[in-house]
Amino acid sequence: MNGALLIIGDELLLGTTIDTNSAWLGRRLAEVGIEVKYKLTVGDSPKIIEDELRRLLEKFDIIITTGGLGPTLDDVTKKSIAKVLGKKLVLNERILKAIKKHFQKRGVEMPAINMSQALIPQGAHSIKNPVGTAPGLFLKEGEKWIFILPGVPSEMKAIFEEGVLPVLSREGKKEIRFRTIKTTGITESRLAEILDRTVKEVSGYVIVSFLPRHTGVNIRIKIKKGTEGGDELLKKVEEKFTEKIGIYTYGRDEETMEEVVGYLLTMRNFTLSVAESCTGGLIKHRITNVSGSSKYFIGGVVAYSNEVKQNLLGVPEQTLQRYGAVSQQTAISMAKGIRSLLKTDIGLSVTGIAGPSGGSVEKPVGLVYIGLLSKGKTSFEEHRFLGDRIKIKEQTAQAALDMLRRYLLNA
Ligand code: AMP
Ligand code: MG
Repeated sequence: MNGALLIIGDELLLGTTIDTNSAWLGRRLAEVGIEVKYKLTVGDSPKIIEDELRRLLEKFDIIITTGGLGPTLDDVTKKSIAKVLGKKLVLNERILKAIKKHFQKRGVEMPAINMSQALIPQGAHSIKNPVGTAPGLFLKEGEKWIFILPGVPSEMKAIFEEGVLPVLSREGKKEIRFRTIKTTGITESRLAEILDRTVKEVSGYVIVSFLPRHTGVNIRIKIKKGTEGGDELLKKVEEKFTEKIGIYTYGRDEETMEEVVGYLLTMRNFTLSVAESCTGGLIKHRITNVSGSSKYFIGGVVAYSNEVKQNLLGVPEQTLQRYGAVSQQTAISMAKGIRSLLKTDIGLSVTGIAGPSGGSVEKPVGLVYIGLLSKGKTSFEEHRFLGDRIKIKEQTAQAALDMLRRYLLNA
């Protein structure tokens, strides 16, 4: 299956909005075995949309458009697509009802212009929008399939996951021959070294890509088209890889570090509290991104200033003076403090220099200490991260969660 993306919106050409939809769609489609061969960004101009859609229909099996489904006059996508296919726009009562209900839920009456969102090309199937008003649309033109999605990224993604994927899968177009192995705490080159022989061994039927990010390296394994063995083979190859990578593997596919940590905390029946300095609450944010985290996460303190470290967490003034706020001693003392303050099984802490200012020769920007305290165990880690302030915060949060994960695996 060949796919093409037609990304629509003046704001994308003006540069006031960056097109993130195509990157997300490309990745997501690849994961289910559909290769995007072409993408095109155009403005909200009917003539151009029509010409380009005609061209795409000649070459590609699946075309996905995003943008231009709003209720305002500048949103012309449906009209242009209907014109190319020689169809009329018709009012769909079901969609109209759903849009009215959406406004009702928010306690306001539907503005008259939203009526236009219930107009769809004749013969199009609507795909429910779980988070907004404009539904997605699906049109089958012989062998050609067109999916029409809104521009708002959260709506586009929700419709794709809940509406487009099931259609692709029902029609047998979806072929999961991908797996992403997620790693952290190890560099891309070291991984490449460790996996060198395995990659060569499977190279006849597997394509391996290394996808490095500052928070870890994802390894994508793709079974080559036409290879016998399907899901079983994928599983075997995955096992070969994870066995070599060992403890650095924390998850697969869509799994996040905080989900894995949450799962392990639940399994062990442990509670957690977190004291953060340089991450400013990012660790607590990530932990609470997981639904059900109230079962194990009790709370925490953002102890940014020394006063809070002392007064709320009981870090001794002496410790701060002798070793500094960014030190293994302070990290351990913070973890100890939060653990006893909130009476949890585990206390986790971070303190570091996120930069760009505040570094010195002995304590450069990116120096981070993580502390972990539990019954009968005190441990800390020292890290030296590179990058800007945000990247250092993100790496710190990832490393702290990963330290907790590794602790839980052996607890
Ligand atoms: P629309 O569906 O054209 O009304 O788009 C609504 C909003 O979604 C726009 O104002 C943009 O902020 C956003 N948006 C549209 N297309 C994209 C895209 N390709 N990537 C990211 N955001 C987009
Ligand atoms: Mg628009």
